[in-house]
Amino acid sequence: MFKKIVKKIKKYNTIVIARHIGVDPDAMASQIALKESIKLTFPKKNVYAIGMGSTKFNYLGKLDKVEDIKDALLIVLDTPDKRRIDAANIDLYTEIIKIDHHPYIETFANIEYIDAAKSSTCEIIIDMIKKTKLKENKHIAELLFMGLVSDSNRFLFNNTTSKTFLTVSQLMKKYDFNLAELYANVYLRPLSEVRLQGYIEQHMIVTENGLGYIKLTNELLEKFDVDSSSAGNLVNNFNFIEEVIVWATISEDIKNEVIRINIRSRGPIINHIAEKYHGGGHEMASGARLQSFEETESLIEDLDIVCKKYKKEK
Ligand code: AMP
Repeated sequence: MFKKIVKKIKKYNTIVIARHIGVDPDAMASQIALKESIKLTFPKKNVYAIGMGSTKFNYLGKLDKVEDIKDALLIVLDTPDKRRIDAANIDLYTEIIKIDHHPYIETFANIEYIDAAKSSTCEIIIDMIKKTKLKENKHIAELLFMGLVSDSNRFLFNNTTSKTFLTVSQLMKKYDFNLAELYANVYLRPLSEVRLQGYIEQHMIVTENGLGYIKLTNELLEKFDVDSSSAGNLVNNFNFIEEVIVWATISEDIKNEVIRINIRSRGPIINHIAEKYHGGGHEMASGARLQSFEETESLIEDLDIVCKKYKKEK
């Protein structure tokens, strides 16, 4: 399958690489690393990495704008369904390739490479480069490493396998990364965010079934000087609370006029609940966007039921 993908890449002079809305390090690093790898292998090709960026991820590189798409190949990374593709109208492209590690939702591409057992889309791209004529250099390897580390939450999730460690080990051996520098890119954050994390730790509501959640209004976020997306990202920091098996941050995003829900689990499968509320994601890491705090009540109830069932079965 990787060879088939590279054959398509070889065929097109213009290649656009897109990924999901709500950019995160795995989506953006895989996108920019693949762009750089294609440019390194085929210097004459026009390759663009598109989508809305975030200043937080400037360390990963710059995104492009494209106009006037003609006879181009679209590669969509880290995105299981059409509606979540950022900035690309798939109807404008001659052919489409999907490369993803989310559970399957729908087919929208001519070639679809999906491996939901992989820690990250970056891990798939590392594999693809290893097994094909696509070239890589230290910077490409560093990008892919940072995306993988971020999406596996520093090798915390179950889709971190022996192959993941082998992949990372081979990269480190080859390129001798400065880990402290790379981790500072991914994990350094302002004190304001740490203070908000402290607030969440103090005020998280925990049900008797093991659901932990917190509602963060815009007023509160302004007080802490943290935007809603960064607040949502804090969900990754509550993995090991004994009394909590599923947890969610529910934060008001007035810029996009939505309530942002970020959900994580240490046991119960939660993505079907996120899907019920027009969201989605992985079995243990999902998200959704709702219109009001009132609407979130029924989602909270559903998550609590899932926790209760899980505890009973255990
Ligand atoms: P996050 O909590 O934003 O890091 O997202 C965790 C996982 O859920 C990622 O795989 C996202 O792609 C997915 N996800 C988050 N929000 C949504 C949404 N509104 N719709 C579908 N998938 C989502």
